[in-house]
Amino acid sequence: MHIDRRCFLGGLAVMGLAGCARASEGTEEIHFGRDTCAKCGMVISDPHFAAEIRGGPDRQLVKFDDAGCAVNWLEKQAWRADTTTDFWVMDADTGQSWLKAMEAWYTPGAMSPMNYGYSAHQQKRDLSVNFEAMKSAALSKG
Ligand SMILES: [Zn+2]
Repeated sequence: MHIDRRCFLGGLAVMGLAGCARASEGTEEIHFGRDTCAKCGMVISDPHFAAEIRGGPDRQLVKFDDAGCAVNWLEKQAWRADTTTDFWVMDADTGQSWLKAMEAWYTPGAMSPMNYGYSAHQQKRDLSVNFEAMKSAALSKG
């Protein structure tokens, strides 16, 4: 809260919000073993399957332990069709770099935290499916 207010006042002072871009844009660090998934409430402990969504009227960042949790959570938001929503999934190969969820490839059969079973990758590989296919599989699991 402190940071937000300082950012807001600072933005007013310079008649611009450029310096505040970081507060409402981009990914945030997940504190593994401490942060919890917004959908299932489990502690996010495995970097390889983490996901983040930033969107809605306040551009809040929300964290997840499984891409399947993220798509199910997003589906329940009134702003789910907002095309300015940012959605990232962790590259399961490294567990360190974020991929744009819509552009990633999803390989089934992974031991993901909530058993949605998809690992996200930058490149298409055998059996990989696109975002839409992963999403409908995850939604059908609920
Ligand atoms: Zn979850």
